Amino acid sequence: MIVVGAGPAGSTAAAYLANAGVATLLLEKSSFPRPKACGDGLTPRAVKELIHLGLPFAEADGWMRNRGLRVFGGGHELELPWPRLASFPDFGLTLPREDFDLRLARHAAQAGAELREGVNVTGPLLDDRSGRVIGVTAATPDGPAEFRAPLVVAADGVSARLATAVGRPKKPNRPVGVAVRTRIRLDGRALAPGRLEWMESHLELWDGPPAQGRLMPGYGWVFPEAAAQTQADGIGQGADAAPTARHRPPGDVVVNVGVGSVASSAQAAGAAKVNYRALLTKWLDTLGPRWGFTAADVIDRPRSAALPMAFNRQPLYARGLVLVGDAGGMVSPFDGEGIAYAMQSGRLAAGVIAQALARPSGEGREASLRTYPELMKESVGGYFSLGRVFVKLIEHPAVMRVCTRYGLPRPTLMRLVMKLLSDLYEPRGGDWMDRTIATLARMAPAA
Ligand SMILES: Cc1cc2nc3c(=O)[nH]c(=O)nc-3n(C[C@H](O)[C@H](O)[C@H](O)COP(=O)(O)OP(=O)(O)OC[C@H]3O[C@@H](n4cnc5c(N)ncnc54)[C@H](O)[C@@H]3O)c2cc1C
Repeated sequence: MIVVGAGPAGSTAAAYLANAGVATLLLEKSSFPRPKACGDGLTPRAVKELIHLGLPFAEADGWMRNRGLRVFGGGHELELPWPRLASFPDFGLTLPREDFDLRLARHAAQAGAELREGVNVTGPLLDDRSGRVIGVTAATPDGPAEFRAPLVVAADGVSARLATAVGRPKKPNRPVGVAVRTRIRLDGRALAPGRLEWMESHLELWDGPPAQGRLMPGYGWVFPEAAAQTQADGIGQGADAAPTARHRPPGDVVVNVGVGSVASSAQAAGAAKVNYRALLTKWLDTLGPRWGFTAADVIDRPRSAALPMAFNRQPLYARGLVLVGDAGGMVSPFDGEGIAYAMQSGRLAAGVIAQALARPSGEGREASLRTYPELMKESVGGYFSLGRVFVKLIEHPAVMRVCTRYGLPRPTLMRLVMKLLSDLYEPRGGDWMDRTIATLARMAPAA
């Protein structure tokens, strides 16, 4: 089995495959630790995946817990704790992706996957007669190489090089997001009480004091986290290094600050023409006085990437190639979250593959592999379709403004919105809010 890309989707898939006794080669073009454009925020849905996988998240190792979202918009500020549900934990986490991805890759290697870093996969190897993917070509530190396996998992992120090479282009009718983030050091600053316990979500971006400056396109976030361990003290030299506990001095805190926006289609995104980096710089000027930072406290250059949403590449399985995570467009159109779905798809794909490989090659195995797209669509397809409708509505600034101004002061409505936007509801049973969202998600066609 070959897995291409050791981000959350690939490392999760590789860990589950190795645990199931499948010989697994995990190929990653960079070397850990590597930087990654991300808000570094894990919702309870992602925390649930960590628990499934058995990846520890002790605070002594740099994980920071949060209680929910503090939402700003329409002149209002509201704290929305993560919902208390039987199906999900009630806390979120942050950890810099440098640390997180390294630990996930290490976890996969410890489970028995063979991790090869510095291996840039250049394309699929195709069977001449059937056109089926039978391996990959790659540029390795020792020169060009070929790797063969009965199946290949494409976990190569938004670039989706493998999916593109086998003719699975982006669907133009899916929402397209773009986000950019930077990091700001707050060492030893006196912060307002509770500041570190919430992930801040700003539904409106002002280029001056709210309601006095101009409203800019997009939304923003401020997620407190510990400073990246791998940058700060250089541990984690390769995925074999032993896990090292960190004793963070009090106040050694960083905030991950970013802005993003979403459009309902590639065409709408092209028309928007937003300079995201300039937008972030302007917003930092507005945000700085509230958090007590200045431009001199910025510790990382802005990093941006596209957010591929709502299964924007399909089929998720065909002719020897399985798509997981961003490679299959699995970012939520509601909130730009991608880590939970990347890990979920890695877990489900690995389960299906292990079952399929226990059968002889042929139609029986193929039928078994085709259950993976069905499983993904069953679990999040309807929800993603609702997200596509949501994006069509909120991409009109006037609709967004009315929603924030009149919605935020209504706590019950906002608790419902929180459950909907963060995909945190009981799939069966629960209260009237859970039942409403579950019914809508079931009724929406998974496409
Ligand atoms: C600015 C920004 C902020 C975000 N914030 C959040 C957030 O706070 N929470 C959240 O849940 N999601 C967030 N997301 C989305 C999230 O980052 C992605 O959805 C998630 O990383 C997807 O995981 P993945 O494993 O599919 O892909 P990736 O994390 O992109 O991993 C792909 C891996 O494949 C490797 N690779 C690529 N090409 C090749 C190749 N040819 N050969 C070998 N290896 C290859 C890459 O080096 C990488 O390691 C954010 C995204 C952006 C851009």
